[in-house]
Amino acid sequence: MGERALLVCFGGMSNVGTLTGLAALEVAKAGEGTIFCLASLANGDPMVERRLREARRIVAVDGCPLACARRIAERAGFPPHAALVLSEDLKIPKGPPSGLSDMDRERAEVAIREALREQGRSEE
Ligand code: SF4
Repeated sequence: MGERALLVCFGGMSNVGTLTGLAALEVAKAGEGTIFCLASLANGDPMVERRLREARRIVAVDGCPLACARRIAERAGFPPHAALVLSEDLKIPKGPPSGLSDMDRERAEVAIREALREQGRSEE
């Protein structure tokens, strides 16, 4: 059984981008998913590509509709099984990174856990 792969934008210039990384980190620490190296994927690293090919589920988590993580994954040939955009799905307005709250991080964690749990395309 492959990994549950998280591709997060972790855009540190905004609250929602930063939130993708902080929330995914909590999920990863609980052993519920693995944060893959998005920058490595963008560079075509064969190890990351192999592990993504073997992944049972791929979830992209983006802060805003520019969807950097999802687009990198798609361009690399790994369209995610689920894609979250925190500014839209959780209705968190994009702003400076200082505007982070624990409540928003907890809501993002819940959304990521749900996205990881849904059935993959091959199982549908
Ligand atoms: S998706 Fe939005 S928040 Fe994330 S890195 Fe791209 S521009 Fe920044």
